[in-house]
Amino acid sequence: MIRNAPLHLRCRQFHSLRVVDLNPVYQDAKKELIQTLWQIVDTANSQELGDLIKSICESYDELQKCEVDSLRLESAVEQGKQRYKQISDTFPPLNLENWDQYARDRAPSLRDYIHGVEEVAKPPQITEQDRLLRALPYIWQDPLCMLPDDEGTEEGVQIEGGRLELICPITCRPFQQPMVSKKCGHVFDKEGITNYFDGHSSRDCPQGACVQKLALRDFVPDDIMKLRCLIQGKRTQNEDETPLDVL
Ligand SMILES: [Zn+2]
Repeated sequence: MIRNAPLHLRCRQFHSLRVVDLNPVYQDAKKELIQTLWQIVDTANSQELGDLIKSICESYDELQKCEVDSLRLESAVEQGKQRYKQISDTFPPLNLENWDQYARDRAPSLRDYIHGVEEVAKPPQITEQDRLLRALPYIWQDPLCMLPDDEGTEEGVQIEGGRLELICPITCRPFQQPMVSKKCGHVFDKEGITNYFDGHSSRDCPQGACVQKLALRDFVPDDIMKLRCLIQGKRTQNEDETPLDVL
């Protein structure tokens, strides 16, 4: 016996309906934005840099909106399917008497149900790429600024009067290849940290007052700090290039 007959023959595929997962496309697009960012920070002159960074921030905003829309649609389709199934279950099972009626009547469209649902989508996942792209407008404004996400939790870097220092605590020189500890968030230059661990498999974090036991493998490149240094470098370069007669 057929139970829970679908409203219409064309609804056979109904339960396999899925929203295409666009997440990999969004992640690739973010990677490309970041590659472009490194390229322009490296090659663009400081006059054109502002416009290019603005355009990257705008593209990222668009991307975020699309990401949220996709998650909303995904959630709406799932909820719409649930409601459709609930209603479908209340219809009498298909039999010879009602066969003609089922075949003749127009089945309601899933679209009708999707539009009626409450839009409760899960928030997008924040990746390392997101952290960098979200930090970009703030860092462009002020490479030494505290980021809004880090307020109250930022302990990993040297802070002087609410602003960051772009100096490695080990080498006491500006960061060249900043590396961040995944365990405590402290940042050191690659050269300094490599020398510090020379001949040791693990040691205390070199940051004063941090008692974390660390190994060299606990460090990963710190792209946010790298971005700060590169943009700060461009700013200083710009100041040096400004002709004296306009000062
Ligand atoms: Zn530490």
